[in-house]
Amino acid sequence: MPFPLHRPRRLRQNPAWRALMRETRVGREHLVYPMFVQAGGARQEIASMPGQFRWPVNELVEEARRLHDRGLAALLLFGLPESKDDQGSGAWAENGIVQAATRALKRALPDLQIITDVCLCEYTRHGHCGVLRPAPGGVEVLNDPTLELLARTAVSHAQAGADMVAPSDMMDGRVAALRRALDARGFQQTPILAYAAKFATAFYGPFREAAESAPQTGDRSGYQMDMGNRREALHEMQLDFDEGADILMVKPALPCLDILADARRRFDIPLAAYQVSGEYAMIKAAARAGWLDEARVVRETLLAIRRAGADMVLSYFTPDLLPDK
Ligand SMILES: [Zn+2]
Repeated sequence: MPFPLHRPRRLRQNPAWRALMRETRVGREHLVYPMFVQAGGARQEIASMPGQFRWPVNELVEEARRLHDRGLAALLLFGLPESKDDQGSGAWAENGIVQAATRALKRALPDLQIITDVCLCEYTRHGHCGVLRPAPGGVEVLNDPTLELLARTAVSHAQAGADMVAPSDMMDGRVAALRRALDARGFQQTPILAYAAKFATAFYGPFREAAESAPQTGDRSGYQMDMGNRREALHEMQLDFDEGADILMVKPALPCLDILADARRRFDIPLAAYQVSGEYAMIKAAARAGWLDEARVVRETLLAIRRAGADMVLSYFTPDLLPDK
């Protein structure tokens, strides 16, 4: 028998064969673009996320139109309200910033799919994702009273025209609460993209600047997951699946490829991964220093996330992957 019998290099000899053998691809159809919308003013670049902006509604619509013309299929909307309060009432206000932006986007671009972030932290003065009460040594985020507010928020987004809602709070039971509330108001067809395994991580740092949502006291480790926990991530995802989530998300993405791979084996519904602000900032900073080839590294990270099992990736690099740039 000649040795070696298997020569994998045979299939790597030219670009055509390499393309034919490629197992995983990433293209615009796999990507969702997260965008930040603010009340009024001019667009503002986010210092720790170069190339990303906080957009007033009118400019957001124009930017979305440019991206949609180039093939953008869906965007995820985060709102920065004009004012905050202890409850986070701006989250479900009929004329809240996300509701206004969603209406404007759907009017101008009915085919562009709008996914809305459902959480309270951008709208609460204290910056936590739920209802707060003082507790020994700090504060406590109350789970069950928060569910009702999240459900109210999701319904208001659907009423404004959101095509999908994405709860990011990590309260227990929120998917079931949202599903019940949406169904009761006639939104049986509005899917829920659940931030199912969302880890507490410093990788969210730049986002908090973008969304002005850093907690004023304490941190989010009382509701977001511990970075060391792999089995618990599957448990969290199972709960959201059982409560009726249509899509399960893992966040952050690159530090959690094992979680994605585990989830891919266990669940047959679509999986999403969020390439978060810190992942974006790391690549941007290294590229600016001339240490990395940005375009190639971006493509490779997205491929790795897809290879691990994500059907779709929420990424700030989405515009770079659209054609005709
Ligand atoms: Zn939150």
